[in-house]
Amino acid sequence: MIPHWINGQRVLVASGRHAQVFDPATGAATGRVPLASGAEAQAAVAAALKAWPAWRDTPALKRARVLFRFRELVERHRDELARLITTEHGKTLSDAAGSIQRGLEVIEFACGIPHLLQGEASRDVGSGIDCQSLREPLGVCAGITPFNFPAMVPLWMFPLAIACGNTFVLKPSERTPSCALRLAELMSEAGLPPGVLNVLHGDREAVDELLRHPDVAAVSFVGSTPVARHVYAECAQAGKRVQALGGAKNHLLVMPDADMEQAADALIGAAYGSAGERCMAISVAVAVGAAGDAIRAALLPRIAALRLGAGTRANVDIGPLITAQHLERVRGYIAAGEAEGAELVVDGRVAAAKLSGGFFLGPTLFDHVSSTMRIWREEIFGPLLAIVRVGTPAEALALVNGHEFANGAAIYTRDGRLARECAAQLNIGMVGINVPIPVPAAFFSFGGRKSSFFGDSNIHGVEGVRFYSRLKTITSRWPRGQDANDNSLDMPTL
Ligand code: NAD
Repeated sequence: MIPHWINGQRVLVASGRHAQVFDPATGAATGRVPLASGAEAQAAVAAALKAWPAWRDTPALKRARVLFRFRELVERHRDELARLITTEHGKTLSDAAGSIQRGLEVIEFACGIPHLLQGEASRDVGSGIDCQSLREPLGVCAGITPFNFPAMVPLWMFPLAIACGNTFVLKPSERTPSCALRLAELMSEAGLPPGVLNVLHGDREAVDELLRHPDVAAVSFVGSTPVARHVYAECAQAGKRVQALGGAKNHLLVMPDADMEQAADALIGAAYGSAGERCMAISVAVAVGAAGDAIRAALLPRIAALRLGAGTRANVDIGPLITAQHLERVRGYIAAGEAEGAELVVDGRVAAAKLSGGFFLGPTLFDHVSSTMRIWREEIFGPLLAIVRVGTPAEALALVNGHEFANGAAIYTRDGRLARECAAQLNIGMVGINVPIPVPAAFFSFGGRKSSFFGDSNIHGVEGVRFYSRLKTITSRWPRGQDANDNSLDMPTL
C-alpha cells in the first residue's frame, strides 16, 4: 500500500477506494494506491493551510536553503528515483534519469528565489512619497500531474511554488504514485517543515475537491486536454488562478534540403523515446517534396535497429506502454490507420508479439497519412509515427497550424531564412529549429497554445514565479503634521 504524505508523515489508509499500480514490463500488479475521498483531500488542504503563515514569513533566503539541500538529495538519490519511475511507468532507466535531470534544473532555478522575488522601488513618485511593488505568495497551491513524468512534472511545480512562500498539495497520477511520495520525503529530509508539501493520492474525486476548495488559491494541472478543460473551467468559475497544460500532437517539418541523417535520428528519438508517451513527442513527420522518399528511406534501418523490452534492462530502447487499456487504445489506432487507407510501413504489433507479458508495442510507421485520418487528428501517445507528404513549405505550415493542438513543432532545414520564417508563422507554443524536442530550459517557461494550454502563465521559469506570487504595491510617506493635507474630495494626484 502506497501512503499519502500529509503534514510531514506517511498516512496509510486501509479502507475506502483503491487502485492497482502495475509494473508495465511484466503486467503484474505491484501495489495499491488509495483514492482519496473529499474528506481526505480536505485534511491535506487543512495541513497546508496551517503550515502557511510560518512558511510565508520565513525569509526567502532560508526557503532557498531548503531547496539547495533538496537539490543535493535528489542528485544523490537519482538512481533510486529513476528505478521508481521505470518500475511504474516502463520507460528506460536512462530516460528516467534524464527526466530527473530536467526536474533538478527547475530546483536549481528555484534556489535563486531571493533574487527572483525582488520587487521594484521608486523614491519621490510625488513629493516625499515613495512607491514599492512586492511579490507575495498566494497561500495553498495545488498541483495535479500526469503519469508520464512522475518526477519532472511535479518538479516543474512544487519547488517554485514553495520557494515563493506558498504551501502545496500535490496530487500525482494514481498510475505512477511512488516517486512523488519519495520526493516529499526528501524535501522533509532537506528541512522543509511539516505541512508545507503534502502528497495526496487519488482520482477525480480528490481533484474536484481541490478545485472547489475555498482555501486552494491556485491550481497547476498537466494532463490530457479533456481534463485540462474541466480543471480550467472549474477554477475560472471559482475565481482561482490556474494553468492547465493539455495534450499534444507535435509535427516535425522536413524540408528537402535538410540533412536527412540528422532529421531521421531526430525523428527516431522524438517519436519512439519513452514509447511515444511524451507531450513533446513528435508523432507526425511532414515531408516537403522530395523529402518524403528520403526520410522514409533513412528511417527504415533505424527503426529496424530499435530494441523493445523492459526499461530496467540494459540495451533496451523502447519500454512498454503504461497500461493494458492504453496498449489496446494505441493498437486500435493502428487498425484505424489501415482502415482509413494509410500505408502501414512498420507494424509494431509484430515486434511486440515476440515478447511475453507486459504492455509492449514496437515502433510503428505509417506513410501517406492525410489530414482527414484519425491517426493525424487525434493524440495517440504511443510509439506511432505518421508521415504526411506535402508539396511546399506553405502547405506544411497550413497543416500544422490547422491542428487542434499546438504544443511543440520542429523544422529541419539548412536554410536559415526559411527556418526563421517558419518559426514566425507557426502558431505553436514551443518551436525547434534543427532541435526535435524543444523543451525550454528551466529558466525559460514551458507551455503550448490552443487545446494544449488553458491559462495565462506558462509553467516554470520567470512565468512560474509570477504564477505562484502576486503583486502588492505600497505607496508611502512620512509627513510632518502640517505637510499632510488629505481633506480634499478631489481625485488624489501626486
Ligand atoms: P490524465 O488527464 O488522464 O490525468 C492527469 C491527472 O488528472 C491525473 O493526476 C489524474 O488522476 C487526473 N484526472 C484524470 N481524470 C480526471 C477527471 N475526470 N477529473 C479530474 N482529474 C482527473 O492524463 P494522463 O493520462 O495521466 O497523462 C497523459 C496526458 O497528459 C497526455 O494527453 C499528454 O499529452 C498530457 N501531458 C501534457 C503535458 C504538457 O506539458 N502539455 C505534459 C505531460 C503530459
